[in-house]
Amino acid sequence: MILRGTASINGQGHLEIGGMDTEQLVEKYGTPLMVYDVALIKERARMFLRVVNQKGVVGRAFYATKALNTTALLQLLAQEGMGFDVVSGGEFYTALKAGVNPKNILFHGNNKNREELELALSNGIGTIVIDNFYEIELLEQVAKQLGVVVSCLLRVTPGVDAYTHKYIITGNEDSKFGFDLNNGQADRALSYLHNHEVFDLKGIHSHIGSQIFGEEGYMIAMDRVFSKLLEWKIQHGFTPRVLNIGGGFGIRYSMRDHLKPYEGFITLVVEKFIKRCHEIDIPVPQLWIEPGRSVVGEAGTTLYTIGARKEIPGIRTYVSVNGGMTDNIRPALYQAVYEAVLSNRMLDETEEEVTIAGRCCESADVLVENIKLAQAKPGDTLAIFCTGAYGYSMASNYNKVPRPAVVFVENFKDQLVVRRETYDDLIQYDFPLEVEE
Ligand SMILES: *Cc1c(COP(=O)(O)O)cnc(C)c1O
Repeated sequence: MILRGTASINGQGHLEIGGMDTEQLVEKYGTPLMVYDVALIKERARMFLRVVNQKGVVGRAFYATKALNTTALLQLLAQEGMGFDVVSGGEFYTALKAGVNPKNILFHGNNKNREELELALSNGIGTIVIDNFYEIELLEQVAKQLGVVVSCLLRVTPGVDAYTHKYIITGNEDSKFGFDLNNGQADRALSYLHNHEVFDLKGIHSHIGSQIFGEEGYMIAMDRVFSKLLEWKIQHGFTPRVLNIGGGFGIRYSMRDHLKPYEGFITLVVEKFIKRCHEIDIPVPQLWIEPGRSVVGEAGTTLYTIGARKEIPGIRTYVSVNGGMTDNIRPALYQAVYEAVLSNRMLDETEEEVTIAGRCCESADVLVENIKLAQAKPGDTLAIFCTGAYGYSMASNYNKVPRPAVVFVENFKDQLVVRRETYDDLIQYDFPLEVEE
């Protein structure tokens, strides 16, 4: 078991986070409950900002809001000096309403629509990351109509597929995102956008994947991007002011994940970046990154109450909790592996191996398979660690299950940042059937 951030075990054998006894949080807010360790979020934000601002490089870190997008979180990260990466009008709107300066927002996505582009441009968005030819056309129309210049990056796909431990180098990457570096698409986009009256092309973006444990994939992608930058310098006189290498920094969901320390491996990427700039003889651009999961993932813990138990002799024992795929779809979607404990009995010996089932009407609704716990009784609290990213943000109301509450904890204080949904929330968009007179 990995205890992260401020997590510890108190004298009563209860899990504590941010100095708060999780059993007291359960009593106050009920379950399922998502608890975020604010100190750990701040530590990560500061580390990422530090690591891209070293050795003379000027860097920026944009939090990928799809990992968790709530008003309080965006305010917290804005205070820490992060910018924000959004991929929809809804994410952009949430950031605006949280008081984020639109200059510090960048807009991603492979199918941004006209309304979203109008919303972003009319509110003075800092950067649009251009993804495809259709978007160039739309943007040109919208920008002319609004009389604005589009400050943008060109998203390229360098042909590096990052799997957790392996990198597959391909000629043309099979990706729905970005312009291919190898088949002429990126060249065509660059020559159109560079020196265009409506576009201010600041630089290049590439993002190779997610849950990446070391520098290798970033290094390969950087080599490919710099070869292209040299061509573009010679052919078009283009030199970037920004290179954005995306996000994807991994986290340790369990002991099986062998992650290199962030500062060490990202520093290697920064060093290579400087070296490549010197080699192709361009001024060192700003270096941007877009961490999502690594900012909030390990800071989040979900607390559930244990209910039913089903023992199937010779096969397995199912222990059911009062949440599941509605608050954490990742096990069902990606076979994601998590660690869990009985957070009200942390000092008890482990006695049995069980499978933690969710409450939904799907056999795939299993949160953790074959985990060793103390003998679990109805009413015990089960804590699943490392649920902070892509859990709440992917939550659904399947089976009309209300979404959980979200609390921040720090320095012996707790703060509700998203309230639990009610049954009335669940039917708020419904209209009754129209009856004929
Ligand atoms: C998803 C995504 C990120 C964040 O990925 P993490 O794995 O959460 O760090 C950053 N940039 C882009 C373009 C993305 O699609």
